[in-house]
Amino acid sequence: MVELRMTSPLALSGVNFAYGEGELRRPVLRDVELSVGAGEIVLLTGPSGSGKTTLLTLIGALRAMQEGSCVVLGKELNGATERDRVRLRRRIGFIFQNHNLLGFLTARQNVAMTLELDRSVSEAERLDRAAQMLGAVGLADHVDKPPSKLFGGQRQRVAVARALVGSPGIVLADEPTAALDKASGQEVVHLLRDLAKSRGVAILMVTHDPRILDIADRIVSMEDGRIVEPLADGAAPR
Ligand code: ADP
Ligand code: MG
Repeated sequence: MVELRMTSPLALSGVNFAYGEGELRRPVLRDVELSVGAGEIVLLTGPSGSGKTTLLTLIGALRAMQEGSCVVLGKELNGATERDRVRLRRRIGFIFQNHNLLGFLTARQNVAMTLELDRSVSEAERLDRAAQMLGAVGLADHVDKPPSKLFGGQRQRVAVARALVGSPGIVLADEPTAALDKASGQEVVHLLRDLAKSRGVAILMVTHDPRILDIADRIVSMEDGRIVEPLADGAAPR
């Protein structure tokens, strides 16, 4: 832990990325520089198609890097093997717009699933930790319900619990409040912020949602694959 605090959980520089090859090659990320410190919440905004999700998938080790440097939790992803990337992914919490919970599992089983890759943890302990995490997001009374028996905001809180149960060093969220009403959306991000601040987790969150900008330590914007100047002081609500 101490070791991780000394370097940024996330540091990118000179990142270029293109889809397709030859004639079809289409640059999507251009010279991206970005870092997120421990316990810091950075929001990433920008028009649709500007490359936000692509950037998140590179950082999340879900896709191989092409050019530049991307250091996540102390690991350089440029040149990393698929095996390295799989290992790193276990230390990253992912939250997507649509919670992606499995309908045939209970909330607790959905959360426990994340821990299944870790063979050192028994099933009983996994379920125990999942229940504890669900308690921390205010769902103690709902652990044995399937997603269909939960409201939208509650389902997204299950997704937050799932992202955090493995004690990730960084959380990557892609429009996590897009499908929620204002109150549920704020509840989810405030919860995320409290848990992140208390655990020193870095959060990088893509959002178009003006209702949640106040949780940000910093807001950066992307345009056509580039990080453009941060919003001027005063433009971002404190
Ligand atoms: P954003 O999340 O900001 O909307 P994306 O990263 O999803 O942007 O997309 C950036 C650009 O890359 C878009 O032009 C999109 O059409 C293109 N793109 C996204 N994913 C793929 C893919 N798997 N293959 C080819 N092009 C893609
Ligand atoms: Mg996107």
